[in-house]
Amino acid sequence: MTSTPVPPVACRVCAAEVQEFLDLGTGHPISQHFPRPQDTPTPQTYRLAVGFCVECTMVQLIDDVPREHLFTTDYPFTSSDSVVVSDYFRDLAGQLLDTELRGPSPFMIEIGCNDGTLLAPIAAAGVRHVGFEPSANVAEKARRAGVTVRPAFFDSAVVDELLESEGPATVLFSSYVISGITELGSLFTTVAALLAADGVFIFEDAYLGDVVQDRAFDQIYDEHVYLFSAHSVQAAAERHALELVDAQRISVRGGGMRYTLAHPGRRLPTRAVRELLNEETDRALNDPTTLMRFADDVRQIKHDLVATLERLRAEGRKVVGYGATAKGATVLQYCDIGPDLIEYVVDSTPAKQGHVTPAKQLPIRPPSAFAADPPDYAVLFAWFHATEIITREKDFAARGGRWLVYVPEVHVR
Ligand code: ZN
Repeated sequence: MTSTPVPPVACRVCAAEVQEFLDLGTGHPISQHFPRPQDTPTPQTYRLAVGFCVECTMVQLIDDVPREHLFTTDYPFTSSDSVVVSDYFRDLAGQLLDTELRGPSPFMIEIGCNDGTLLAPIAAAGVRHVGFEPSANVAEKARRAGVTVRPAFFDSAVVDELLESEGPATVLFSSYVISGITELGSLFTTVAALLAADGVFIFEDAYLGDVVQDRAFDQIYDEHVYLFSAHSVQAAAERHALELVDAQRISVRGGGMRYTLAHPGRRLPTRAVRELLNEETDRALNDPTTLMRFADDVRQIKHDLVATLERLRAEGRKVVGYGATAKGATVLQYCDIGPDLIEYVVDSTPAKQGHVTPAKQLPIRPPSAFAADPPDYAVLFAWFHATEIITREKDFAARGGRWLVYVPEVHVR
């Protein structure tokens, strides 16, 4: 059998050639679309494969996912569902109020404000703000939390009107949204147009360095068109009249990076930026060889996970999943894990319960089902909330249940 060479695709940021290094297969569903059991599976599937740009180093999906399919009116994830995430945003709001938002008449914009967990304390402090949130049901939650919210996508169409009504933004902020915006160049241009002379654009996202180190291949899914590094963010910023001036590691959602961009020359880049760039160079993070090795490791995880689940089935063990996450969709589809290997998936989000997972249609049940009929093993799809979940479900381990984790390698804990 001969394989057809993959034709090069153009980088979304700089139009140079993107070389594919990991193919996670076809048939991937929209990761946050949770059908009901009686629904026919969504026909909108796509191929999930990742490549890196030979010019600007940006790691990105090869195939496009139409964004109107991504964020629907019944988007099930809200920030306040996780206590850890809620606490994190409350702390961050306090920090912003004490620093960037301290000047006269500050104005803050959040791109993808979700249920307003971050903006609610900003609103309570009397700071002018607006949150953009395309999912109508989630935007309504933000509105009820006292946040000024627009149930819309943030794009260039808002620039003139916002500058007219509110003036330039002191802070533009976004958490785990920017990497899902296909037109990254257009977004940066829009941000630069809205940003006050001394303002900052702060965004948080999964970090390529963590993904490679943890072999967290499940960070690759439709909402992550890009996996950023300091190098690729700096290169993208420079192309669009912005400058990377700070980079800080963050611990929520499995880890990530908080990048701060400003107008060029307005802020001195911090030592953290230099250190992170040097670290990435030392690790050869943007070297194709490193990414190829990562791809080999991912294929090994698939092999080991499937072999483990098949062995447990042969031994008559009851295995379920924990966390009906977007990341889990990548794992189920790529590893071809169906209800024969994992009976059901537990999730504490009521909107997901009674529905099925987007990939492989596994039933989603509440944690009470898990407690009532404990399995022998639970695959921890929500590994990024591991501490929170394992503490909450301590009875499971006390009764002899074991957690099966697949990053950075398949192991039982
Ligand atoms: Zn590029």
